[in-house]
Amino acid sequence: MVIAICASYAALDLTGRVAAAKGRAFVFWLIGGAGAMGLGIWSTFYIGMLAFRLPVPVSYDWPTVTLSLRVAILAAAVALYIVSHKVVSLWQTVVGSMVMGAGIAAVHFIGMESIRSAATRHSDGRLVGLSIALAVVISFVAYRLAFLAGDEKKGAGLRKIASAVVMGFAILAMHYTGMAAASFTADGMVPDMSHAMRFTMLGAAGITIVTIVILSLVLLIPVFDRRSAQFQELESAEQRYRLLYERSLAGVLRTTLDGRILDCNLACARIFGYATCEEFIASPITDRYFHPEDRNTFMAILQRVKSLTSYEQCLRRKDGSKVWLLGSANLVDGKGGARTVNEETFVDITEGKNAEETFRKAFNANPEPITIAAFPEGRFIDVNDSFLRVTGYAREEVIGRTSKELNFWARPEDRVTFVEKLKTQGSVRDLEITFRTKSGEIREAVDSAETIDVGGQECAIAIFRDVTERKSLEKQLRQTQKMEAVGQLSGGIAHDFNNLLGVIIGYSEILEQRLPPDDPLLKECLQIKKAGQSAASLTRQLLAFSRQQVLDPKVLDLNGIVLNVQKMLRRLIGEHIELKTNLDPALGSVKADQSQIEQVILNLAVNARDAMPQGGKLLIETAKVELDEDYARRHPPQEPGAYVLLSVADTGIGMDAETQARIFEPFFTTKEIGKGTGLGLSTVYGVVRQSGGHIWVYSELGLGTTFKIYLPCAGQPARVQQPPAAPAESLRGSETILLVEDEEALRGLARSLLEDSGYTVLEAELPEAAIETALQHSGKIHVLLTDLVMPGMTGKDLAAKLAPTRPEMKVVFMSGYTSFTHAGLADSEIALLTKPFTREKLLRKLRETLESEIKVEAK
Ligand code: ADP
Ligand code: MG
Repeated sequence: MVIAICASYAALDLTGRVAAAKGRAFVFWLIGGAGAMGLGIWSTFYIGMLAFRLPVPVSYDWPTVTLSLRVAILAAAVALYIVSHKVVSLWQTVVGSMVMGAGIAAVHFIGMESIRSAATRHSDGRLVGLSIALAVVISFVAYRLAFLAGDEKKGAGLRKIASAVVMGFAILAMHYTGMAAASFTADGMVPDMSHAMRFTMLGAAGITIVTIVILSLVLLIPVFDRRSAQFQELESAEQRYRLLYERSLAGVLRTTLDGRILDCNLACARIFGYATCEEFIASPITDRYFHPEDRNTFMAILQRVKSLTSYEQCLRRKDGSKVWLLGSANLVDGKGGARTVNEETFVDITEGKNAEETFRKAFNANPEPITIAAFPEGRFIDVNDSFLRVTGYAREEVIGRTSKELNFWARPEDRVTFVEKLKTQGSVRDLEITFRTKSGEIREAVDSAETIDVGGQECAIAIFRDVTERKSLEKQLRQTQKMEAVGQLSGGIAHDFNNLLGVIIGYSEILEQRLPPDDPLLKECLQIKKAGQSAASLTRQLLAFSRQQVLDPKVLDLNGIVLNVQKMLRRLIGEHIELKTNLDPALGSVKADQSQIEQVILNLAVNARDAMPQGGKLLIETAKVELDEDYARRHPPQEPGAYVLLSVADTGIGMDAETQARIFEPFFTTKEIGKGTGLGLSTVYGVVRQSGGHIWVYSELGLGTTFKIYLPCAGQPARVQQPPAAPAESLRGSETILLVEDEEALRGLARSLLEDSGYTVLEAELPEAAIETALQHSGKIHVLLTDLVMPGMTGKDLAAKLAPTRPEMKVVFMSGYTSFTHAGLADSEIALLTKPFTREKLLRKLRETLESEIKVEAK
């Protein structure tokens, strides 16, 4: 029974294998299964026979015995073949079980035939039929049980056992029913015993061996099976890992401690710019380092800590470029005499690093200050170089501290607005703020910000443009433009007015000359002249402001001028003010009109005096200064270069910003009516600007005022001052003067003045007429007295035209404008008579010119 069941189990177990196998394996498993089953059936029969006690001694015919075995195996093989499918159909089961049942029956009856004894066997036909039917039916049940659920795994083992038990029953049932069908009668007939043998001992031994073989086969198959599965699994795992290793995007590298590359994957080779692993392995590992000794440092650290994770390293590619790696390294101790190796895995993070570097550069090189701060408490995480430059802090003073701690916000409400906007709108655009630098200076900025995520923390990235300078430049520009406009307006009026005043003064002088000394009208005449002269001084100031007065620039020593006016200043400012001078001996010279510069100093001193009614100090300083680009940029339109500085400082009441913005305007005064005209500083401004210089005021209420005047260095030594002019008595003359002036009133005036003083006057309205007159006049012309600006031709051109035919002739120009100063006219030493002129000025200029050696050159 046991053998039958075990054999059935083995056969069934192998069925699955037969179904799965192909080719040689199929044959192998088929033979194995059939062998096991056949042996089972066969041995069940003969062991069953041992259990059967026959009345006579029994022997078995050997050839028949072996025949029964062959039939058993063959039948089992055919049945197995029929049912060995993945899915076994009902018909296959039916046919299979029929073959199986028939096989079992065949083995039984052949076995019966092999009996050799002195007994005759009788068979009950019905029971024989029943035995065969039982074999077929029970086999069918067994197969059905085994293959019912196809290849469903669950419960397959149990089902297999159950099915094997059933199959065992099929064999036994057939056998014992078959035996029941047989009956023996001892008739003493001796059968053919030629091949017979006694079965008892031999059968027991043989059947035991067969049993052992079958059982061990049954037991061994699953064990062998599991082994092979394990082996397969191992093999596929290794294959999996190898694939992982080879296809990984991360580089994997194994080296010895002394730097020999043992192994690498393709990703590793590619990361370093090699096409193949072999090529990479062939190059020494130190080639991957920009400094070979870095490798030693790295290995030394690794040997100490054994394993490194997430370290960043910058190595060298094949082409020498940088590659940034993020990796981990492990020292793997060699077991059993194997050497220790270093295993590294890494990924290429060059792109990220480059992006980071680009960001860093853009961040730090950005000319605008940028901050990244935790939001909303404002703790600084990072700031750029520009921020440090603008605020004056060192980086470590800023990082980790809040803007509040740094006292950054000059107006706390700016911060409230900033945070509020960032919270509600997510960004801030061009918010005007004021901030405090480390030194406490308050500056203005335009702030823009966004919220960003930095490592999971909400931050504000803010960029704030420092507009302090721009704003002050704008203010200065507006100021300059305003002064320009006012200057043009006042200058235009003053110029025309000046000519009229010249006529008024001139004719009142003529009247004065012609009236007898005791004439009662002489008094009125003098009043007219005096009023005219006051008016002229007013227009002169306006002209000075609008930079249109005629200057007589000479190379001067500023220190000398200061010393000159010092005495007068002391008298002017009074005892209660202390006057101090601090003059730079190595000052250098300036080119300017001496009397105008004296006027500048006097005007400033008078203002200082007015600002110090209770007394104080007045300090006049000179210095040679070199103004650099930076200064010039902050003080437009001043240009960089060498300057002579004249500074006038007082300890008076000072001015607020509003007053400072307007002091140079003509007629601006804070003084009561009658005390101030508001023309002092506008004159100063005009003179300084006309001389190519600049004036700046620094003042604070209650703290005094300092005016700084920068005049360009002349670069040549100052001239020796001219001797004083001759007294008025000797101003008369008898020479011939060619007078050219387009304005009739002025021309008439000049003619009257000249003729009254003994001169002969040739008169022309326009340059063309003057040339004609000169041609026609046969006598000598001593002086050409001409206006500078005339329609058609300038006075200068006229002089040049006449020069070839009149080589002796000298020239005196008359002008109210100075636009020609820059055309080189005032530079040359020719005589210039400024309008309006008095009788004395005109005659003195003429005499000076007549006695000098200077002539106009022909063009
Ligand atoms: P005025 O002296 O006639 O008022 P200015 O043009 O000389 O006219 O000066 C204009 C204004 O500038 C003065 O009214 C005064 O308010 C102011 N000012 C000029 N110099 C000083 C100074 N040294 N200290 C204080 N205020 C000054
Ligand atoms: Mg004044």
